Amino acid sequence: VQRIGVLTSGGDAPGMNAALRAVVLAADHYGMEVIAFRHGYQGLLDNDHAPMRPADVMHILQYSGTVIKSARCQRFKEVEAAQEAAANLDALSIDALVVIGGDGSFRGAEHLSAHWDGQIIGVPGTIDNDLFGTDATIGYATAVHIAMDALDKIRDTADAMDRVFIVEVMGRYAGFIGLSSAMAAGAERMILPELQKEKPLTISTIVKHIERTNAIRGEGSYVMVLSEHQWPGGAVALAEQLEAEYHLPCRPCLLGHIQRGGPPSPADRILASELGVHAIELIRDGVTKVMAGMQAGTPIAVPLRDTWEKKNPLDSNLLRIQHEIFNPVKKTPRT
Ligand code: ATP
Repeated sequence: VQRIGVLTSGGDAPGMNAALRAVVLAADHYGMEVIAFRHGYQGLLDNDHAPMRPADVMHILQYSGTVIKSARCQRFKEVEAAQEAAANLDALSIDALVVIGGDGSFRGAEHLSAHWDGQIIGVPGTIDNDLFGTDATIGYATAVHIAMDALDKIRDTADAMDRVFIVEVMGRYAGFIGLSSAMAAGAERMILPELQKEKPLTISTIVKHIERTNAIRGEGSYVMVLSEHQWPGGAVALAEQLEAEYHLPCRPCLLGHIQRGGPPSPADRILASELGVHAIELIRDGVTKVMAGMQAGTPIAVPLRDTWEKKNPLDSNLLRIQHEIFNPVKKTPRT
């Protein structure tokens, strides 16, 4: 293999730059050239590309975002778009493509593979941690750290004012950020997509839990972590409802895109570095249509399709501890 294409796609994730750097350095190590496409799949269609040499990726790993830009590209879902992208890749004599992104980006990679003969390797770059086959995705650890930090700060004021706070975090389809940040910050309640799907919470259950928790602990603060899109109108509407209907002083806080910025955590920089190198070594080994993942410290290859068709469940032990031991709805009898 001589020439590798690389792109970052979908929502940006802290550590994407570190992954890009690793891809470029590893490719150089093995005597391969790298061409980066800007703005994800859009760049493949627009022929928006530039060569990437080691000098171009020096000192980028400490920054979030992505220096080659990311984008969502609806048109890439069309057959003609994949055919166009394949023709553009062939015209540039590209032998393999590394796609750094989330499940949507991997679907895009699979879609492209139906029309292009080159090798395609996915690198899991998303804060959501919702890709099967890797212990963590690049960006997840940083997002949890930012959410935890925000929850700690909210706790200070919540405690001072004896208030209920609802902190809205990212994770529309997966509650990993919600559960981990709640656990790390000692939040009293989580409203997560997986739990809502199973048994949606009602406002009266929430109020009962707040009252119960306050009764057990004496007056105090109550911090709830709400994954986005899990309550009609989100944290603002839920806070208004609790104040208006139940006279509970309650404030919303939306973390939004803050969760994707700032310095990537050491764990994300290291994971991105290992997986970027792994992606190039998989190309060298002749593998295609897999994601470069990490399981128990070992780099592995997971069929692309499995990464979105199979699901990682939420950590049941964390859920048990949060619900039954730390924040029980009912007082459990001593055994
Ligand atoms: P994140 O969830 O972290 O934002 P993602 O990679 O899942 O990242 P998406 O917006 O879902 O983000 O997908 C990124 C891009 O991948 C889309 O804008 C589109 O170009 C392409 N894509 C997604 N799904 C498909 C599909 N079924 N077929 C072809 N291309 C797709």
